[in-house]
Amino acid sequence: MIFQHLSIRYKLLVLLVSSVALALFISSCLVIAYTQKTQYTHSLNDIEQYTNVMSTNIQASVLFRDEISAKKILSSFENNSHIMSAWVVDEEGKPLSRFNSQVHTAKEVDTLNIELESLLISQKENLFEKQQSYHYTNEHAMAILQPIVYEGSTIGVLVIASDTAQFEMMMYDFITIQFSISLVTLGVIFLLSWWFQKPFITPVISLIETFQNIAKTKNYSTSVALKQHDEFGTLYEHFNSMLVEIKERDERLLHLASTDSLTGLSNRHYAMEMMHTLVAKALRHQGFISVIMLDIDHFKNINDTYGHMAGDEVLRVIAKLIIECAREYDVVARVGGEEFLIVCEGCDDQSLFVIAERIRSTIEAKEIRYETSLIHVTISAGGYVHIPTSHNIEPLLKIADDALYEAKMQGRNCVVIKGSACA
Ligand code: GH3
Ligand code: MG
Ligand code: MG
Repeated sequence: MIFQHLSIRYKLLVLLVSSVALALFISSCLVIAYTQKTQYTHSLNDIEQYTNVMSTNIQASVLFRDEISAKKILSSFENNSHIMSAWVVDEEGKPLSRFNSQVHTAKEVDTLNIELESLLISQKENLFEKQQSYHYTNEHAMAILQPIVYEGSTIGVLVIASDTAQFEMMMYDFITIQFSISLVTLGVIFLLSWWFQKPFITPVISLIETFQNIAKTKNYSTSVALKQHDEFGTLYEHFNSMLVEIKERDERLLHLASTDSLTGLSNRHYAMEMMHTLVAKALRHQGFISVIMLDIDHFKNINDTYGHMAGDEVLRVIAKLIIECAREYDVVARVGGEEFLIVCEGCDDQSLFVIAERIRSTIEAKEIRYETSLIHVTISAGGYVHIPTSHNIEPLLKIADDALYEAKMQGRNCVVIKGSACA
């Protein structure tokens, strides 16, 4: 169905215009039907008035059977182009005088007269004895058969028949005006429909635009800004709170996916992603990127001596110390059991050494309390300052790991920095 495929704007337009058209059609039909009925009665009343006047005027002519005078009286209808025939009969029903219109065809007039004559016979009792007038109508004509009464007795019957042209003309004019008014109303409604649709269309469009924007940008921080106090308002409210929920869930998932649950530091996956980003940035700006690999010395012994829970506490405290010693914008991640990685952007070998040494000495000086024990730990650190020539981060990690290995080989609790980007 075509209607189903129309946009909401056009659906509303069709609905609005067809509702108005239906309302106009029904009201026009009722008004036309009412007007037709009243105008028909009105036309019949006009003829009735003619017959009343004429039956009084013609009384004497009928009483004295004066055909010439009767003919003269009836000939006054020559001035009325709508009167088809007018005739009078005496008390026995014999014709006294007759006027036939010259405007209408003889056939039309004769057919009508034959019908009226047979009516005169069939309605004889009503007309002559009961003295009741008789109204006759057909498709093209209307007539009145009126008894002529003198001193209480019926002395004859006057018949006046008129065409319905005047009535038809009037109805034609009325229907034309009614149709024109309906057409103009429909046109005005059509033009105003844009304005009528606004309260329905604007909220829907606003919602669609927000959906499209979210689909394109994947940004769930947005919301529908329009204020509405109807069902659309409720829809927006729910939609906006759904967006807030999605955003919060996304943030929670992102946090879970990028965070180490024990220490709260970034995890290996996040650190690798950040390294790719920073290497790409360094490549673009011909800058350099530095990393420090940290490993707790003889951590196995700590687990073995104080228990695994104590080991966990040590990991947590060390993570906190590293964060405190690193710069605010460095990426600090736990990348293995007791291994940590610090990614420093734009940091030369001397600065890198200073950071690594600060971490090392801070941890060395720290006594970690776990239950009744005071645990003392040290770390070894290997650093590498790298000027990237490709997006590959493996060589960077490998050399930093080698530096860490060297630090271990040098007896632990020390820092080895490799590479020199801007010495
Ligand atoms: P080295 O100085 O050569 O690094 O010796 P190490 O004992 O620190 O190194 P090794 O690799 O032999 O042992 C690492 C230990 O860290 C083994 C493992 O049980 C422990 N470990 C790894 N992850 C966790 C953890 O999440 N919690 C605790 N408590 N221990 C862990
Ligand atoms: Mg290790
Ligand atoms: Mg270790």
